[in-house]
Amino acid sequence: MVLEIVNFGTPVLRQKGAKVESVTPEIKKLIADMMETMEENHGVGLAAQQIGRALQLTVIDVRGAAKERPSTLELDGKPADVDEIMPLVLINPIVTPVGEPVKGSEGCLSFPEIFAEISRPESVDVTALNEKGKPISFRCGGLLARAVQHEVDHLNGLLFIDRMEKKVKAELQDELDYLQAETKAAKKKK
Ligand code: ZN
Repeated sequence: MVLEIVNFGTPVLRQKGAKVESVTPEIKKLIADMMETMEENHGVGLAAQQIGRALQLTVIDVRGAAKERPSTLELDGKPADVDEIMPLVLINPIVTPVGEPVKGSEGCLSFPEIFAEISRPESVDVTALNEKGKPISFRCGGLLARAVQHEVDHLNGLLFIDRMEKKVKAELQDELDYLQAETKAAKKKK
């Protein structure tokens, strides 16, 4: 089932996600629905907050953008095929930055048509539980590292606008104010 994505201005986007204690049938259904929602919206990632749930749960799929924006993956210290872990489900993820910050373009399904250059560490170490509740760990770089960091920010109530340079955010301020007002107006109508 395709779920409704909430936009900037919705309070849940600022909530830290609760830990997922076990992969219940309800969580499994939520994961399947989030995958479907990400696909439908051509997203690279989707966090639980974006469909209105404050949980430590996110789905990621970088395959659609792989040609223009490659990713790297290391499993047990050895290079691995990124596609092998796609689509990726991360439950209760912990991310440790590796390497220098690099700039790259980012958008967000909760900020339609808003894009900006964001600086983030080039690669990260990730540990999490997968969709079966099994522990996984890997090192990734490129677009996957960027996507993981963007999504894990969501799980902590952080948004990509918080990572923008002041000047970049100032240039987008009118659009952001408009989006926030639109979100609040739409909520009143419901
Ligand atoms: Zn986002």
